[in-house]
Amino acid sequence: LQLANQIAAGEVIERPASVIKELVENSLDAAATEIEVTIEGSGSQLIQVRDNGFGIHPDDLGLALSRHATSKISSSDQLSQIASLGFRGEALPSISSVSNLSLVSRQHDSECGWLIHHEEDSAAPVAHPPGTTVAVRDLFFNLPARRRFLRSARTEQQQILTTLQRLALSRFDVRFQCDLNGQQKLNLPIAETQAQQLVRVGKICGQAFVKQALVIDQQFDFIDIKGWLGHTETHRPQADQQYFFINGRVIRDRLISQVIRQAYAELIPPGRHPVYVLYMTIPLDRVDVNVHPTKHEVRFRETRLIHGLIHRAVSDELHQQIN
Ligand code: ADP
Ligand code: MG
Repeated sequence: LQLANQIAAGEVIERPASVIKELVENSLDAAATEIEVTIEGSGSQLIQVRDNGFGIHPDDLGLALSRHATSKISSSDQLSQIASLGFRGEALPSISSVSNLSLVSRQHDSECGWLIHHEEDSAAPVAHPPGTTVAVRDLFFNLPARRRFLRSARTEQQQILTTLQRLALSRFDVRFQCDLNGQQKLNLPIAETQAQQLVRVGKICGQAFVKQALVIDQQFDFIDIKGWLGHTETHRPQADQQYFFINGRVIRDRLISQVIRQAYAELIPPGRHPVYVLYMTIPLDRVDVNVHPTKHEVRFRETRLIHGLIHRAVSDELHQQIN
């Protein structure tokens, strides 16, 4: 079982940033409105995510750490209608098989929090505000090969921040904070109005982007595409400044990036690169996110149609506003 968890961890938990993604997604699935991340070292010493979400019942804490136990779907019919970010029940057991993990949770109607370290432990009462804290220490301590593959501390820290920023752009209704080695790296209050949202976008994509950004807001039959379009000021490619979300989920899909790049072609000064933050909504049953364990890629029921609409939305908007 431990081996099975470690193999699953190999697929989903490549590096400290993968842990961040999984833990923050769990907080979002728990309807948290505040998420605080604490990192020590490059994340291999400590990654801690604390939220004010609905928490886990003490009887279910062990279950949360056991394989394929998800509270988010209960039948295979629901696989075609996935609204939650997680649904495989693999992240916590995988992370816990390659680190020292502790889980503390308190439901809102409970007097105190409950702590466990391992699936088979019984939970112990501890003081904790309503919500959940997951602390992951000594990541990959038992996988020296994986540890060796990690890049410099700087690179891993950058990956962690990038991952968090992607998630922060996916949910303006949640406050995000991140401390790295005692220094505050990210402080993003809830952004309700469009102006507040642009402040958050500016903190992540830079002021230059916010100044030139074109608003995009296009509706088609059953999908809509909103957000901001711009381009780099210099010739330096900035692939990491391209954000695409489907139904609130961070998507990194090569084909979608290509479609958008083509829509931009010839509409921006030569040598510049697209920078964008785009939100697409589409009925859940027309998109499949269960393509890869990290859920970064998607498959559409009507691929060419949807790609065509994304292309049209972007190029129409650029044409209109440039001419
Ligand atoms: P999944 O997200 O695919 O369901 P995970 O391994 O990530 O699987 O988490 C296992 C379960 O633990 C979740 O289904 C959820 O019930 C519970 N859980 C994990 N993190 C949190 C959290 N921050 N708040 C509330 N429940 C959580
Ligand atoms: Mg999860």
